Order: sequence, then C-alpha cells, then structure tokens
Amino acid sequence: MWKITENLYLAQLPMIVGPTSKQEFSKNDIKRVLTLTTEPISEKQKIGGVDYKFLHLLDMPDEPILDNAILETAVLYINEGVEKEENVGVHCLAAVSRSVSICAAYLMYKNQWPVEKALKMIESVRKTIGPNAGFLAQLKIWERSGMSFSADQYKNLKIDIPGITCVDSKTIWRQPVIDDQTKVRFKCRQCRKVIFNSDNIVHPLAEACQKYLIEPMAWLNVSGATCSVSHTCGAKLGTFIASGSKCNGCNKFVRQWIFINRTKLDKVEIAT
Ligand SMILES: [Zn+2]
Ligand SMILES: [Zn+2]
Repeated sequence: MWKITENLYLAQLPMIVGPTSKQEFSKNDIKRVLTLTTEPISEKQKIGGVDYKFLHLLDMPDEPILDNAILETAVLYINEGVEKEENVGVHCLAAVSRSVSICAAYLMYKNQWPVEKALKMIESVRKTIGPNAGFLAQLKIWERSGMSFSADQYKNLKIDIPGITCVDSKTIWRQPVIDDQTKVRFKCRQCRKVIFNSDNIVHPLAEACQKYLIEPMAWLNVSGATCSVSHTCGAKLGTFIASGSKCNGCNKFVRQWIFINRTKLDKVEIAT
C-alpha cells in the first residue's frame, strides 16, 4: 500500500484480498477499507476487526460522483477514520483512477487544496496515477463550487454531445461560471453576462492565436449537425469540434475543443 498522509493509504485490489493482504493490513495497521469497484469484498475475504465500506463505482468518464453523493460519502468515511486516528485503506482495482480521485478529494477537503495540488501530493508517493477525464472535470467543478456537498447544485452539469463516436466519451461535464473580478473575464456580447474567465481558457495563451478554446461551461449548449455552441441567451458563440483542430496561430493541435469566436465576446480586463 502507498501511504499518502497520516492515516490515509492507497491500495490495489490484490493488496486487500490477495495472499499477502493479512501482512499488508498488519504492517500498515489498517482499520478501515473503502472499496470503489463494482463488487463488495465478500464476507469470506474480510479481515476481522476491520470496518469495510463499499461504493459502486465504474472507471468511466461519464460516471457521476457529485450529484449522487459518492464523493461526499467517500470523503466523510475517510475523514471519520482519520479523526479517530484509524488508518484507512482506499482501493479500486489498479489504484490509478477511482481510488486516486477519491484520495485527492479527501486531501482537497481536509486541506482546502486545489485538485492539482492534491494530485501532485499523491503522485509524489505513487508514480502511476491517472484519474479519468470525467473524474478530473468533476473534481474541478467541486473545487470551484467551494467543495460543497449540496448535490442539488451539481444536477444537469453532465451533457451528452450528439453524434460523437471518435472520442473517449460523449459526455461533457460543465464548469460553473465564476465572475471573479481579479481575473480577465469574458462577456457574451448579446446578453452582457460573464460567460467564462481566464482560468477556463485552455488555449491560446499567445496573442497570435485567433481561436479561443475553453473548458465546457455550465451554459454550454451544443446543437445541430455542425455542433454549434450557444449561450443560454441563445447567442451562437462558436463550435464544438470533437475530433480536435489545429490552431492557425501557433500551429498546435488541440483535441476535442470548444471554439469560441472572438467577435461574440467582450473582454473585461482586470481593473487596476
Ligand atoms: Zn448571452
Ligand atoms: Zn494557438
């Protein structure tokens, strides 16, 4: 098992139920186990004196963790153990995506950290980590929502983009709009509302690039055969390009992007 912090351990399934699991448990003094797979640990495989908790979770980008209280249940179960100074083993199958995402969420919650910082911390202990794109997007949404456990606010953040077959997932998770005056903000020219800020720009960073690539935002609506992107006010802002595209400014190829036409926006610089 990989010790992430005091009382928090990351594990693969064989460490929990394999031939050496008893040694693993006694060496690390594991008192709680959080299982994030499709099957709970059987009674036969359980080790005496250990508390087991099972949450059904698939390692798929469209698998929700926010609006169904998976994240909340997992984080609070780990936290309860840590508060009692009981060592908690968090595992899925390979300790790459599901369990890493949940350990990251716990570190975010406990330390009020952004998701990148939590993942870096885990990576310093376990080299091979790779939360799937959907889990990453949801952790980002959670961070931007002040790590609230109110499931209601996460409803309708998942949308399926029509007609996509060539990419990992047709599911898109939409980020909340944060009207932060300390950031460069962009307003919809038609309705004057802030629609994203500089944090949401994935590309470009250089002035030469003529196209804006942004994260999927809460207002994002994709329609028609051309995957036209529109704002909630109805303004057509650009296009969703599932297969990706090459930037005509810097020549970089960017996968699966939301292209926003600069002429549909007003840029609001930071007031000095
Ligand atoms: Zn608008
Ligand atoms: Zn560019």
